[in-house]
Amino acid sequence: MPTFALETNNNAYMETVDAYNRLMEHGIRPSMQRIAILDYLLKHATHPTVDDVYQGMSGEIPTLSKTTVYNTLRMFADNHVAQMITIDDHRVCYDGNTEPHVHFYCKKCGKVFDLFKELAPTMDRQFFCEGHLVDEKQLYYKGICKDCIAKDI
Ligand SMILES: [Zn+2]
Ligand SMILES: [Zn+2]
Repeated sequence: MPTFALETNNNAYMETVDAYNRLMEHGIRPSMQRIAILDYLLKHATHPTVDDVYQGMSGEIPTLSKTTVYNTLRMFADNHVAQMITIDDHRVCYDGNTEPHVHFYCKKCGKVFDLFKELAPTMDRQFFCEGHLVDEKQLYYKGICKDCIAKDI
């Protein structure tokens, strides 16, 4: 019995179901670890890195390896189950929200925020551009976040 199924919180249960359904919709076999990793992403909309996900989950699933987390998140991104965010030169982070939205990177604290009010490039289907096949569009903004601005005042 996986630990997440024991949670009594109704919302947490719903998200686990969401994770299962999303994997099925994308033709991915919903193994316990895959459900758990996607579930973690859906519950942590902070754009976690492989390390963040691994450290956040290893307490609950001690058998989980960092390689599994790495490979699973990559596979999710390849299959559009999650978004890979490469806004920071030094780390890759992941987003369970696959709706097009703009990301903002704070150059001071390194956090990645969602900007839902900005117009994001939509991506309905793949298309050719000057002979290249495009299957992903990302719009990244960078600057200083409101928390860091508040700290400076
Ligand atoms: Zn900041
Ligand atoms: Zn996001």
